[in-house]
Amino acid sequence: MGIPEALQTVQNRIKEAAAKSGRNPDDIKLVVVSKTIGLQRIIEAIQAGEVIFGENRVQEAREKIAGLEREAPALTGMSVQWHLIGHLQKNKARTAVRLFNLIQTVDSSGLAEEINSSAMKNGKIQEILVQVKLSDEEAKHGVPEKELLPLLEKIGAMDHLRFRGLMTMPPFSNDPDESRPYFRRLKELSYKIDKEGFPVNVLSMGMSNDFEVGIEEGATMVRVGSAIFGQRRR
Ligand SMILES: *Cc1c(COP(=O)(O)O)cnc(C)c1O
Repeated sequence: MGIPEALQTVQNRIKEAAAKSGRNPDDIKLVVVSKTIGLQRIIEAIQAGEVIFGENRVQEAREKIAGLEREAPALTGMSVQWHLIGHLQKNKARTAVRLFNLIQTVDSSGLAEEINSSAMKNGKIQEILVQVKLSDEEAKHGVPEKELLPLLEKIGAMDHLRFRGLMTMPPFSNDPDESRPYFRRLKELSYKIDKEGFPVNVLSMGMSNDFEVGIEEGATMVRVGSAIFGQRRR
């Protein structure tokens, strides 16, 4: 399957999952996860109408964004957006602020402070999601549930950050239904923090193997890579 066809298939599956749960498909954004994928295939996805790309490494994203401007300047006018979906090291915050429209992986006040001060120097308001760790097993990143509100209070005091919502990544499983309790929990948390004065506009949950379940549980953003580009080697 070519990239345009694979994208069409994923978009159709998003629409069906939305219909099944009585939701408007326009409320669900697709982040095309382009980590490890070369520029030519990203260009194909842009030509097929996709405008949001997710990368997990700052350096890799920097090269691609520069490459795109060099090789396909006409396409950069198509308001292509880049999201950081991988862990951010503090020493790369400055570069990340320059490159990304949305940083989905804020999980500590130290990192938030670093992004805030970089954004200030750049004269930018940086939009962020807070990554929540809902399983205590293998997950390395994400803020534990009980530390979420204190973190949001600190972020709320940082003038150059705009909190937009929550992101999570359940433990990997081949059975999409195993992700459901985690997605449901993130949605519940979003109600809870909303009541505390932190409105959640974005719920980023669901990947190639479980995005339909994510949508059934309230995702407004799904991050899909291998269902579009095929299996990655790393
Ligand atoms: C790689 C990655 C994805 C996409 O995974 P696929 O299974 O290829 O769809 C989504 N979110 C994050 C955070 C990732 O690192």
